[in-house]
Amino acid sequence: MPESPYPMLPVSEALALVLEQAQPLPPAQVPLAEALGRILAEEVVAEQPLPPFPASVKDGYAVVAQDGPGEYPVVAQVTAGQAPDFRLEAGQVAYITTGAPLPPGADAVVPVEETEPLGGDGQPRVRIHARVRPGQDVRAVGVDVAAGQPVLAPGERLGPAELGLLATVGRSQVWVHPRPRVAVMSTGDELVEPGQPLGPGQIWDSNRTMLLAAVREAGGVPVDLGSSGDSQAELEAKVQAGLAQADVLLTSGGVSMGDLDLIKPLLEHAGQVHFGRIRMKPGKPLTFATAQVDGRRRLVFGLPGNPVSSLVTFYLMAVPALRKLAGWSRPELTRIQARLAQPLPLDPERPEFHRATLVWDDGERCFWAHSTGSQASSRLLSMRSANALLELPQDQGELPAGSWVHARLIGELGAGN
Ligand code: AMP
Ligand code: MG
Repeated sequence: MPESPYPMLPVSEALALVLEQAQPLPPAQVPLAEALGRILAEEVVAEQPLPPFPASVKDGYAVVAQDGPGEYPVVAQVTAGQAPDFRLEAGQVAYITTGAPLPPGADAVVPVEETEPLGGDGQPRVRIHARVRPGQDVRAVGVDVAAGQPVLAPGERLGPAELGLLATVGRSQVWVHPRPRVAVMSTGDELVEPGQPLGPGQIWDSNRTMLLAAVREAGGVPVDLGSSGDSQAELEAKVQAGLAQADVLLTSGGVSMGDLDLIKPLLEHAGQVHFGRIRMKPGKPLTFATAQVDGRRRLVFGLPGNPVSSLVTFYLMAVPALRKLAGWSRPELTRIQARLAQPLPLDPERPEFHRATLVWDDGERCFWAHSTGSQASSRLLSMRSANALLELPQDQGELPAGSWVHARLIGELGAGN
């Protein structure tokens, strides 16, 4: 059997190489509606205080606190969005709603629950029951955000709360690291589009659908390049098209040792191959290359053809790369510990990434890792409802049930399992 010329790199070394090549994409300014999930590339400072005026916290009456309980004329009303054009004098109150500016002269608000409207024609009057201190139920200028206060720092990930903060300080645009564009192509003469009938020797292309979805889930912009037959010319054209329009190119198939495994030589030609084999199961033939196009570095992952191998290597290598391009400072998959719900066999040749569903046990205070069953690299059912890849050491024999193992998260923990 011919030996591969590529050394088999340990996973950690391979990942270090990938992350060294993946550098954050240059920042761009985007509207807030496009900024969810992006990493901030600027410091955001509030130019104005919030609230910009002393604002009522309750519906009630603006008062002079010193006046105390008693009966008072209601001389005006201020609702949210108005600017009071009068001054409240001692012995007067003004009806006020939540969020409305406190009129000058007033220094507190008595909630409506502590008052009683009094009948009568002409000017309305109200009985105030409660004694309030100055400042009560009033948000002073700048209590929530002071003028000049930094509210977000570069490197922060923008979720709903952070976008809300941007809007709070009046921003409609923000500098972020953009989403990486990721082109996806399948390779193989045997592949047929789902929905088309299968001929002899053919299978439906599952990897492209799966990887395009995985790219989207990982925060990338997927670009569908379609599928290529195993001809040098067709593969080369698609690879070039991918390199021209995306930051990252994912190919699947054609990286093992067969005669029609043309991807590695093609990538050697198009750029630089950093590794062509990796010590892991599944996913040994994973290939990683870079190419310089229009003065920009493109990353290429030659993912194995077997669906499980291609998705597992995508999670372990491509997801951290996409995160790094997107500006994440800690791009690795989250690693936690879990206990085996059943014994698992070990592989004496390579560390294995065993697919499992982690379920929290409140009594034992641990996650139990339930294997997804047969781990054949062609059996996509072994990825079904998996939320973790268990890092099983390369060894003889098996790990008994109850053993603690490290697990890399690839999905949501908790509800839904
Ligand atoms: P290869 O690496 O091209 O030799 O492919 C390894 C195995 O994965 C073969 O059984 C292929 O038929 C299968 N395979 C390759 N690409 C795909 C794909 N896009 N969808 C489903 N199976 C695939
Ligand atoms: Mg193939």
